[in-house]
Amino acid sequence: MSDGEPGRLIVISGPSGAGKSTIVRRLLRECPLPLTLSISATTRAPRPGELDGRDYYFLSDSEFAEMRQRGEFLECKEVFGRGHWYGTLYDQVATGLREGRWVILEIDVEGAAAVIERDLHPITIFLHPGGMSELETRLRKRGTESEAAIERRLEVAAREMRALPRYDHEVINRNIGPTVAEVCEILQRYKEPSSCSKN
Ligand code: 5GP
Repeated sequence: MSDGEPGRLIVISGPSGAGKSTIVRRLLRECPLPLTLSISATTRAPRPGELDGRDYYFLSDSEFAEMRQRGEFLECKEVFGRGHWYGTLYDQVATGLREGRWVILEIDVEGAAAVIERDLHPITIFLHPGGMSELETRLRKRGTESEAAIERRLEVAAREMRALPRYDHEVINRNIGPTVAEVCEILQRYKEPSSCSKN
């Protein structure tokens, strides 16, 4: 479904609890660009309501390791240091870009750093809720994780916040609607002006 325009790579990172998934889902529905989400692979268990092939490809440790060995990931890493792997599948990105789509990677800051190094010229956006206490409130409200897991995420979040200067754009997610509009507007600035000729 390409009209000849090249695809673009978009990296969206930010501490977990910043509302990235919600923003991305709404962008896909509301932003008038040919956006598509790259579905990552992970070895973590699905949360209630998550679906294989929609939210992630949920893999066993050995399946993930085999794919890693075959070089099927654009980047992959063990997030949170507890044995859960996450990875961006080459195939998801390559297919989207080939079709002229704007492929969104919703990945952590280290994955983003690896993608930035690869010369793929991504548009990078760092999304956060405005501060650590706001983040803690959101993580607790979500109620899907144990106290220990929340503490770990907060530690990681404090570290991730330090990656902010490496991103092209900072967006503070205070209210979902305006945040979706802001991210969409940022992305639209990267649209090539339509070419016109004079006879
Ligand atoms: P969650 O377990 O809450 O879905 O995601 C945990 C973290 O992993 C989030 O910060 C998310 O952005 C990141 N993540 C998801 N997919 C990938 C991926 O393919 N690569 C990397 N590096 N991080 C990912």
